[in-house]
Amino acid sequence: MARIIDGKAIAERLAADLSGQVRQFALRTGDAPGLAVVLVGHDPASTVYVNRKIARTREVGMRSIEHRLPADTSEAALLALIAQLNADPAVHGILVQLPLPRQIRSDQVLNGIDPAKDVDGFHPVNVGRLSSGTGGLVPCTPLGCMLLLETVVDDFRGLKAVVIGKSNIVGKPVALLLLERECTVTVTHILTRNLPEIVRGADIVVVAAGSPGLVRGDWVKPGAVVIDVGINRITDGEGRPRLVGDAVASELGHAGAITPVPGGVGPMTIACLLANTMKAAAMRSPDVGAMA
Ligand code: NAD
Repeated sequence: MARIIDGKAIAERLAADLSGQVRQFALRTGDAPGLAVVLVGHDPASTVYVNRKIARTREVGMRSIEHRLPADTSEAALLALIAQLNADPAVHGILVQLPLPRQIRSDQVLNGIDPAKDVDGFHPVNVGRLSSGTGGLVPCTPLGCMLLLETVVDDFRGLKAVVIGKSNIVGKPVALLLLERECTVTVTHILTRNLPEIVRGADIVVVAAGSPGLVRGDWVKPGAVVIDVGINRITDGEGRPRLVGDAVASELGHAGAITPVPGGVGPMTIACLLANTMKAAAMRSPDVGAMA
């Protein structure tokens, strides 16, 4: 049977480790790291995500700074808030929950965040640093994928990795992180030809397509590791709502290791957001170390 990579347990260990780092940081600097979360509007899914992030921030002992703005907030008003957060020394990380309402251009807003506080890793400066392998803050879900992989892969060098999906938030950054570890990386997408054949050659498969049931058992070579980033809400045969990934987990018994959905990559994303906040805080106070 494939080993199940328990993302929930790994995320809890990371959070426990971060709690210790937060205590150390507070002892040395007199205050805990602060994460500002900005939510514009009342999108139900975004509200749930933001509330979850705030709860976890507090659980590790960080300060949570919340800004909930009305749905008709102008781009200029949001940029003014970001400028204020950039200048505030008590704010170490800034997260603007996406998607934003139509009147606000997301790229303008993300470009307005100080790269040193950009805990989502979406600012072009951090994207550039990732692609040149020169540090910076790395997007949370890809970072989580790498931490999960590290629990089952001893040596990445020379392994064949296939990434399914080329989004800016998952596929591309995860491909760059794998490349940085000296994997031979193939990035695929909806128009890729012969996808099953390409996947069959992989030692590591990271699938982030948002397509339930895409990766079948006969696509995956025996012993390969499958990281399933997909989160899809489906209705099962008995009419019940279910959360499934992009791979057919029941067909992956021959894989070396797989991540479950839920309980795989999902829990790592918020844990990595907090790790990035700790890293951003430590970068500003270089005498205080941080992991990640
Ligand atoms: P996206 O829609 O921006 O990108 C999807 C990518 O997959 C595209 O590049 C597309 O070309 C490719 N793709 C789609 N269908 C395909 C197919 N049939 N064959 C090959 N390639 C295909 O999505 P995203 O934001 O990168 O998210 C992908 C999935 O990951 C979604 O299910 C999303 O909910 C999930 N996600 C999970 C987390 C987490 O914390 N676990 C975080 C972000 C995204």
